[in-house]
Amino acid sequence: MILIDGKKAAAELREELKVEVSELKSKYNKVPGLTVILVGEDAPSQIYVRNKEKSAKEVGLKSEVIKYPDTVEEKTVLNKIEDLNKDESVSGILVQLPLPRHINKQKVIETILPSKDVDGFHPMNVGNLSSGYESSIPCTPLGCYLMIKKIEPNLSGKKAVVVGRSNLNGKPMTQLLLKENCTVTITHSKTKDLKGECLKGDIIVAAVGIPELVKGDWVKKDAIVIDVGINKTEKGIVGDVAFQEVSKVAKALTPVPGGVGPMTIACLLKNTIECFKRSN
Ligand code: NAP
Repeated sequence: MILIDGKKAAAELREELKVEVSELKSKYNKVPGLTVILVGEDAPSQIYVRNKEKSAKEVGLKSEVIKYPDTVEEKTVLNKIEDLNKDESVSGILVQLPLPRHINKQKVIETILPSKDVDGFHPMNVGNLSSGYESSIPCTPLGCYLMIKKIEPNLSGKKAVVVGRSNLNGKPMTQLLLKENCTVTITHSKTKDLKGECLKGDIIVAAVGIPELVKGDWVKKDAIVIDVGINKTEKGIVGDVAFQEVSKVAKALTPVPGGVGPMTIACLLKNTIECFKRSN
């Protein structure tokens, strides 16, 4: 079984991006810039944002974090986004989610210029991705996609099963696999025979949020299994896939932690660079 090492894949991607940033710097005499807006004191968000800032600096991006207390008015955040939209030194804008309840998430997402939307959440980017046009692609599914392609470069005709249909993960993952000519089944909480559906997959991507939902006997021999889940349990952080059982049948599997997570941040840097290239 191939253990898909997300840390290693992310480090390799960051190295490639570092070279690219230095080439862009020589060509344009400026570097791509990423601005992250963080509202409130949510502990996991603070950690994510710190990691994003550190990784951005590592590859040579201009990186800035704007922090607001959780009492900030929605208007203040929207005005700041408008300013950043106009700022030529900012290639990508990310507003860390979740936001406090009094701030309308959709309004925030739609205020970010689609060309600076490094998360790929703006409806324009969602539409472009599903239409097969150039767009920012949400970072987690993009990371999953790159890891799958490393294991299996030709996905044409493969049967892929995506478990979970969130806008963040399941839906964009489905679009990426479809673009690669996979036959994709997208499953969710109302799916009748989830085990039966999973068993048909040459590729399974699980993005559910239920600890170890996908069992060993749900997986076809030699399938590629990508585990997006991050679940806090008594035995520590586990994914949506029963790792030990599935590792006995799968051809390749991502661990949790150390699989999809590190690639998500590296893909955010990649998206920032792509936004810079498109705008120049
Ligand atoms: P989400 O928005 O809560 O969506 C979960 C999806 O799973 C929904 O579509 C839901 O179906 C489906 N589902 C729930 N119970 C199910 C069941 N019993 N059988 C089949 N499908 C079921 O979650 P998310 O934001 O996509 O996140 C999923 C997981 O990934 C979480 O553990 C999260 O922490 C993790 N995550 C990891 C990363 C990373 O970088 N590694 C990034 C983001 C998220 P319905 O639509 O029918 O409700």
